Amino acid sequence: MSDYSSQTQCVRLGRAPEKHHGAVNIPPYYQSTRMFPTLEALETARFGDADNPPYGTCGTPTTLALRHALAELEGAKHAWLSPSGLTAVTAAILAVVKSGDHILIPDTSYGPTRHFAKDALARFGVTADVYDPMLGADIARVMKPNTRLVVVESPGSITMEVQDIPAIAAVAHKAGALVLADSTWAAPLLWKPFDLGVDISAWAATKYAGGHADVLMGVVSARDDAVLEQISNQHAEMGLCSNGQDAYLVLRGLRTLHVRMKQHEKAALEMATWLQTLPQVERVLHPALPSCPGHEVWKRDFSGSNGLFSILIKDAPKAAIANMLDNMKLFGMGYSWGGFESLILPFKPKTLRTASDWQHDGWLIRLHIGLDNVDDLKQDLLEGFERLEKTVGAGVIPA
Ligand SMILES: *Cc1c(COP(=O)(O)O)cnc(C)c1O
Repeated sequence: MSDYSSQTQCVRLGRAPEKHHGAVNIPPYYQSTRMFPTLEALETARFGDADNPPYGTCGTPTTLALRHALAELEGAKHAWLSPSGLTAVTAAILAVVKSGDHILIPDTSYGPTRHFAKDALARFGVTADVYDPMLGADIARVMKPNTRLVVVESPGSITMEVQDIPAIAAVAHKAGALVLADSTWAAPLLWKPFDLGVDISAWAATKYAGGHADVLMGVVSARDDAVLEQISNQHAEMGLCSNGQDAYLVLRGLRTLHVRMKQHEKAALEMATWLQTLPQVERVLHPALPSCPGHEVWKRDFSGSNGLFSILIKDAPKAAIANMLDNMKLFGMGYSWGGFESLILPFKPKTLRTASDWQHDGWLIRLHIGLDNVDDLKQDLLEGFERLEKTVGAGVIPA
């Protein structure tokens, strides 16, 4: 399907009506055991063979269809599934490090990735340092002789800095290190990570690929054969896999992924541009707007944006923020993003940083613009800002 646009690929990849009684969708195979008719057939099945798996953990018709589809969409050679985005990232790290190695992770990492790198890996003799995500080629300054892996995540979680991945990859590769991207923001549609120097892409299909806040799934993909073998072994050794039901739901999500993404992109850009004009908003952090650090790099490396961005507002007491957020009518409070629902969460980024400066003392509010009508969402936010200002202004709570 590589001759077709990603729009057509989303609709067509991973379907095989001729093998499934003409059904448009491959049904969810609920399968642990695969039975073989002969000893010879039994002995030819191999874990790493995506077309001839020996057992349910290694693939079923549904999970294999999804793996092929996702690999092709992202420009990878193969993709593996796991039970969550976080297991995808942690399995990918474990696949390529050994005791004595050092890894680098950006200060804007997804929080649990950071905990894994700093705490869990230390128990196995792997050390991790956190670096300023805007270092680019200056990543050379924080590389060590035993640095085996540089993790990138672009745009960064919560604060949205866009990293210069080709520059980082050039330095990493020269030093013999691999580059692992947490591709969740872009995957699988908004970039081609392997063309930018990424060796391993790990991401949460939980977000846009699933798209309906009802599936948890991780994906690891790669292009290089040596790396693919390490990832394949890691998944086999740990028994990491997904199941027919979830794979079915993500395949179903894929069919509308392209049109949903276009709508999320359009609505979020309209909201972000509008928010720039509000007096309450000090800065909008959206990769497609010049006010986002790394915007120029985003223009060079990505083909579009999605529904996720952040805004910075003045400091206010927690009770005032609570009055704003507790009473939103359309935006819901909750982790994750990428579904049809609109979400809002407050953060204090200063408390999350260890390797890079965060000057702003106020609140960061992360928004996910779902598939609601944009005018309705604007009204919800306007009323929220009014509640915030009223709570502060009433003097009930000193600002
Ligand atoms: C959500 C997310 C994950 C984890 O995905 P889960 O499926 O929720 O475990 C990892 N990385 C990033 C950047 C994410 O946003």
